[in-house]
Amino acid sequence: MGLHAAYGLTRIINARGPYTPVGVSRSGEGVATAVAAALSEFFVMEELQDAADRALARFAGAEAGTVVHCTASAITLAVAAAMTGESPERIAALPDATGMPRAVVLPAGHAVNYGHPIEQAVRLAGAVPVRVGTDAAYTSADLEAGLSRPDVACLLLVSSRLVRGAGVECSEAVAVAHRRGVPVVIDGAAQDFRIEELLGTGADLVTVSGQKYLGSPTAGLVVGRARLVAAVRAQERGIGRAMKASKEAVIGVLAALEARQELDMAAWRQQQADKVADFVARAGALRGITAESVPDPTGLPFERAGLEVDPAVSGMDAAALGTALRAGSPSIWVMSGREGREELLPELVPLAPAEIEAILARLGELLPD
Ligand SMILES: *Cc1c(COP(=O)(O)O)cnc(C)c1O
Repeated sequence: MGLHAAYGLTRIINARGPYTPVGVSRSGEGVATAVAAALSEFFVMEELQDAADRALARFAGAEAGTVVHCTASAITLAVAAAMTGESPERIAALPDATGMPRAVVLPAGHAVNYGHPIEQAVRLAGAVPVRVGTDAAYTSADLEAGLSRPDVACLLLVSSRLVRGAGVECSEAVAVAHRRGVPVVIDGAAQDFRIEELLGTGADLVTVSGQKYLGSPTAGLVVGRARLVAAVRAQERGIGRAMKASKEAVIGVLAALEARQELDMAAWRQQQADKVADFVARAGALRGITAESVPDPTGLPFERAGLEVDPAVSGMDAAALGTALRAGSPSIWVMSGREGREELLPELVPLAPAEIEAILARLGELLPD
């Protein structure tokens, strides 16, 4: 019996992307086999983290890397590392940050909410978020103003479709911080495909999710400067105890990194493009739908199917269509569209052909000729 039947759980088709409330991603066979094997073994966890350090450094072209529980904890621990370095006294004192640099400067539009506000992940370390600029935009001068405080621990930038407003290039923001000797952390949770590019901005630490496109079990990956990564690892004797990676997560990350390295990117991209092109052609023939391929807004290497809904023809707006898809069985979860548009943006990356057929069939039922 399958897990859904055994526990009475809703069957899902996830066209919402690597979304935490529906279980994020599918792991490949290599990851599943490695994780299953890890569960019945003992390891010297230091050695396992050393192996992950080497693998992540190679993967990202970074000095060092480590694995923590998830990206939310990676943000907290990266901030903590900037505050404490490897000082055992400071690490033991957190989240009481008395006497430490504790201001974490971030552009207002980067104060995202990925299920909780990122500023809460900052505050968990005992740090104080300091927003600069407005939701609509920030400039180098805004950064300069925020970074001129005497108690700055780091600059935090986010690379995600959740980010709002216009701003300076990431590499310029990093340069502004570095001129003041302030380290920079970039949260690039779903951006594992772009990890080298994010590091290429000069950022000192980059956090990405293991369980999003990489397809490992839940894990937060932190890569960057060796001293700061060491300070992240040192948090395990402090607040990081509650945010540690399990043995099966670290083994799963190692297997997922190997799978990614073996992936033929050109063939994979072509496969994604073909899936989207076919879907767009068929969905575009439905009543009240105009369909096109839409590039990922954050520069990920695949397109999404953009479905523009004409409520006057289809009898429902995009939100109602999304709700109707979710209400069916299986329950179909679709990414919502760009702001101000009557649009849905199904993401097809992890879906099997039968699941894509099921989405098209359901759309056909909801939008009859
Ligand atoms: C998903 C996400 C996170 C949190 O990642 P977890 O690994 O689920 O903790 C943080 N930041 C952004 C921008 C995200 O999209």
